Amino acid sequence: MSKKLCIFANHFMEQNDRPFIIAGPCSVESREQLLAVSESLCRMPRVRMIRGGVWKPRTRPGGFEGLGEPALRWMKEITESPLRMSDGAPVRFCCEVARPEHAELCQQYGIHTVWLGARTTANPFMVEEICESLRGSTIQVMVKNPISPDLKLWIGAIERMQQAGIDHVAAVHRGFSVYHWRNAQQIYRNDPLWEVALELRRQRPDIPVICDPSHIGGDRRLVASLALAAVQLDYDGLMLEVHPSPADALTDGAQQLTPTELATILNTLPYSSGNGNPASLEPLRKQIDDIDHELLGLLSLRMNLSRQIAHIKREQQLTVYQAKRWEEVMHDRLQMAADLGLNPDFVKELLEKIHGESVRVQIED
Ligand code: PEP
Ligand code: MN
Repeated sequence: MSKKLCIFANHFMEQNDRPFIIAGPCSVESREQLLAVSESLCRMPRVRMIRGGVWKPRTRPGGFEGLGEPALRWMKEITESPLRMSDGAPVRFCCEVARPEHAELCQQYGIHTVWLGARTTANPFMVEEICESLRGSTIQVMVKNPISPDLKLWIGAIERMQQAGIDHVAAVHRGFSVYHWRNAQQIYRNDPLWEVALELRRQRPDIPVICDPSHIGGDRRLVASLALAAVQLDYDGLMLEVHPSPADALTDGAQQLTPTELATILNTLPYSSGNGNPASLEPLRKQIDDIDHELLGLLSLRMNLSRQIAHIKREQQLTVYQAKRWEEVMHDRLQMAADLGLNPDFVKELLEKIHGESVRVQIED
C-alpha cells in the first residue's frame, strides 16, 4: 500500500509536496486571536491546514480548558469567509476530539480533520466510543502517540479507526513522557524516542507520520532543530504551534512560535522535490553495501570464536561473563574509536550489543 498523505486533506496534496504543514495555536482563545493567526498562516505558502485546540485536556485541574462550541463557530465562520489558504482553498481547520460529543460537534460545524490527543490514544475504551461516533463519516483522523512509548497502543488506535471505516488516518508523533530521576537533565518536554515512530512507519508504511516538534520540545527554541530532524527522517508532515502573542497564551506559551518565527523555520526546511535519488549516490551506496556485507561476515566469525571459547570455559568450569576481561576490551576499543574519530557513545552501545549477544550465545548454545 502506498502512502495516503496525498489523499489526506481533501485530495489537494501532490505526492511530492512534502512535508505537509499544519500550524496554529495550542488553544483557540478568542475570535480575534483565531482570526489574526489564520490571516498570518494563510499568507504562508507552505501551510496547508490550521490547528486550534477547542477542548484542552489539562494534566492538572484549574487551568484553561478550552472554549468549546464557540471556537467551532468561529472556525466555520472563517472557513466560509473570503479568506483563502495560499493554495487558494477555503481555510481548513483541525482540532482535537476527546469524547464522542466533540466528534459529533466537529461534524456539525464542518471540521473535516480531527485528532486524538496523547491521553485519549492511551485509552482504548474512549477511542472505541469516538470511533463509533465517527463511523460512516468521511472525516480524517490523526492519531497522536500515547503518552507512554507503547507502540501497540498507538497502532491499536489507528486500527480501531480503520475498522470504523475511517479511510484517511495519519499518525502524529508528539514524544513520550518518560520518567526522569530528580537530578537528571531533561532536555525535552516529551522524549522524542524517534525509534518508536520509525518502527511505526516500518510496521505501517501506509500511514503518513506527522511530527509535532512543539509538544516534543516544550520550548520554542528547540522547535526548529526538531522540525529539521523530522524532515531529515523523511516524516510526511509537521504540526507546529503558533500564537500571535505566545507570552499571553493561555496554554503552552513556552513552546508556541510567533508567526514570524514559523515563517523563518519553514523557509529553512528542505522540501521534497520528488526527483528521486541522484545517480551520483549509486557508487557510494555500492561501497556501503560492500562494507555492510563485510561487517556481517566478521560478526559471524566473531560469534563462532565465542562458541569455541564457550566450549573451553565449560570444560574449565569458568564463568561465561568475566568483568575484568570485558572492561579491558571496552577500554581498548574506545581508545581505538577515539583515534578513528568515531563517536564513543555509539561505539560503546554497539560493543555492548555485540558482547550481549556473545554472552547469550555462550550461555544458550
Ligand atoms: C495539543 O495538541 O495541544 C495537545 C494537548 O497535544 P497532546 O495530546 O500531544 O498533549
Ligand atoms: Mn499544546
